[in-house]
Amino acid sequence: MSSESPVPDLRGKRVVVMGVAGRDSIAWSIACAFARREALVTITYQQKFLSRIRGLLKDFPMVSALRCDVTSDAELEHFFASFAEPIDVLVHSIAFAPAETFNRPPSEVSREAFAETMAVSVQSLPSIVRWAKPKLRPWASVLTLSYQASVRARPGYGIMGVAKAALESMVRYLAIELGSNRVRINAISPGPIATVAALSEIVAFRRSGKPSSEASPTLRNALERARSESGLDELDDVEFAHRVWKHLQKRFADASAIPELAEAVDVADCALFLGSDLSRKITGQVFLVDCGHSICEI
Ligand code: NAD
Repeated sequence: MSSESPVPDLRGKRVVVMGVAGRDSIAWSIACAFARREALVTITYQQKFLSRIRGLLKDFPMVSALRCDVTSDAELEHFFASFAEPIDVLVHSIAFAPAETFNRPPSEVSREAFAETMAVSVQSLPSIVRWAKPKLRPWASVLTLSYQASVRARPGYGIMGVAKAALESMVRYLAIELGSNRVRINAISPGPIATVAALSEIVAFRRSGKPSSEASPTLRNALERARSESGLDELDDVEFAHRVWKHLQKRFADASAIPELAEAVDVADCALFLGSDLSRKITGQVFLVDCGHSICEI
């Protein structure tokens, strides 16, 4: 398969990709895919990831980067004010949930943790749309990233599943709001990809100090398989999470119609389609890029 997918001309399109934390971020794959097609790409990052972002830009000097915390209206206003030209594609690839949302049953999660999860992972989407709206060109495309735990109760994903359900609903309501301006909005829902956000569920479980018997059945299975290889307990949190993740991913692939895993580059290809004029009459939808895992019986 060729690494360059055939897509319409995206040269000169102004593309904003929000939520790069490092090389593994889905947002970075999306940004690179547009930049390779000579779109004018701006990424956003949180201040704590600045040194990683500097490293990434060395390989892609044509991409520009600005700090933006989506919980701050002042930062959002400042960020969108910096665009003199209209925006063609706006990607929201942002989520966060405190560790307790993964470790506790839903009824035990604190109000504060619930509110923070929803503020960063859901409310940030209408917030960025509010500030971006005057800058969005007719037929512009807004994208966000969801996960299939929005429609299935997936133990271990916890309150983030509730957030993704709300996010997908938000996409439909924003589609109505933006439609009259001929702006569209859709969500891409990938299968599991090893990124900071994805590994945080495993890291949170390890830090909780709970025995594997208290993990969700899927995580427990992956922990047991990872333990059958030597040296798991000596690994640092991130290496530990990668080792366990490998087993989670295998299980996911084995249960998919195409017995493989979708990768960030596959998600980026879907973003190229949704960001291009080929998809101009599509809005309010959720696109699953998961090798058909979601249509298979678990
Ligand atoms: P990631 O950790 O690389 O991206 C999450 C981003 O959210 C980070 O860049 C982080 O800086 C940003 N963020 C968190 N709080 C923020 C704030 N207050 N202000 C601004 N930015 C903030 O992980 P990812 O897997 O690339 O996640 C991107 C999106 O894809 C998320 O919505 C995630 O839920 C979704 N997703 C990921 C997977 C997966 O398996 N990796 C699967 C399905 C959906």
